[in-house]
Amino acid sequence: MTGNKPTVSVNGRDYAWPDRPLVVVCVDGSEPAYMEQALASGAMPALARMMVHGADLRADCVIPSFTNPNNLSIVTGAPPVVHGISGNYFLDPDSGEEVMMNDPHWLRADSILAAFEKAGARVAVVTAKDKLRRLLGHGLHPGVHGSVCFSAELADRVSEGENGIDRVLELMGLPLPEVYSPALSELVMAAGVYLMEHIHPDITYLSTTDYVQHKHAPGTPEATAFYRMLDGYLGRLDELGATLAVTADHGMQPKHDAAGRPDVIYLQALMDDWLGEGQARVILPITDPYVVHHGALGSFATVYLPDGCERRPLLERLGGTEGVALALDREAASARFELPPDRIGDLVVLATTHKVIGTRPERHDLSGLDAPLRSHGGLSEQTVPLLLNRPLSGLDPTRRLRNFDAFDLALNRVTATEAVP
Ligand SMILES: [Zn+2]
Repeated sequence: MTGNKPTVSVNGRDYAWPDRPLVVVCVDGSEPAYMEQALASGAMPALARMMVHGADLRADCVIPSFTNPNNLSIVTGAPPVVHGISGNYFLDPDSGEEVMMNDPHWLRADSILAAFEKAGARVAVVTAKDKLRRLLGHGLHPGVHGSVCFSAELADRVSEGENGIDRVLELMGLPLPEVYSPALSELVMAAGVYLMEHIHPDITYLSTTDYVQHKHAPGTPEATAFYRMLDGYLGRLDELGATLAVTADHGMQPKHDAAGRPDVIYLQALMDDWLGEGQARVILPITDPYVVHHGALGSFATVYLPDGCERRPLLERLGGTEGVALALDREAASARFELPPDRIGDLVVLATTHKVIGTRPERHDLSGLDAPLRSHGGLSEQTVPLLLNRPLSGLDPTRRLRNFDAFDLALNRVTATEAVP
């Protein structure tokens, strides 16, 4: 706590008021090896400098290791059972319809960002894709206290009323990037620096997109170029005096066979075989409007069974299926992964490291996949970086760190003394 600034309580956790600007960066799909290799090859000199006195930690993300549940966990400081976002996509039990979980209507908790704005902080949120903006910005009032919230994807359509900022591309002197490009993430980072220089938010949340990570392995020239770009902006934010916390929503692994073809368990086809056509309903929560780079193939699926269908024999059969890492019923999955039980199916199925789960072959358009599939969703993508540019104190070494501890560490555990430059 600084002077008479309040402690902010949200979702059962207390957060100290930032004593200097805080920037939390969620680098989408940032398997730890990306930064490790970029650091080793000298492509991230600013991060290397920060790691001399900062904290170089690893944390567990939320399962399913998908974008929406994890971004929402980071900004609420809580698991999905609290905030309600169990996937990018789910089966609405009330309507029986499969729907995107992009609407704030599905949220069951307030964010740390909204709670700080309410307490008088100036908050900025910049996302790559617009799908996340409304969820992450829920409860914020752009314009009020100078708060800003927009997506790089629709940066040409911002307005003071809706986003708390006008003509942002013009102000930054940058063009609107393609949705499927590394430039979309670069605009997020550039906006973070621009806002820090010009509107001085107390708290900034930046969320990039995993376009590069879906296509390029750690250490490849394309991945290295991306992390070099990232490093330039992180270095600038550090120079501007921010406390930086860098984490990821999930990791990323190759999911293909030796010939480069996606290695898929077609779970709907399997269930149709076992139970009869259309008896069970397989939902892939990775599904979103932007499936070109992963064909809606991830390593996590949930299955709705017909009434009266016995789960035990199915779980045993699934457990013995090649490529299935784990099959759990709703109660076990909800307990183990802290998922809202009413927003997952009767069964939860996770694939092994290099496998993904699909529905039926004809339902996956893989024509947009121009590189061997890399994806996420399972336990094999659970470890993510959790880096801070300042030393921490009072951290229990036995504590299981989560990516959604980023705000806790940055606000409550950063040592008050200045890091030695
Ligand atoms: Zn993601």
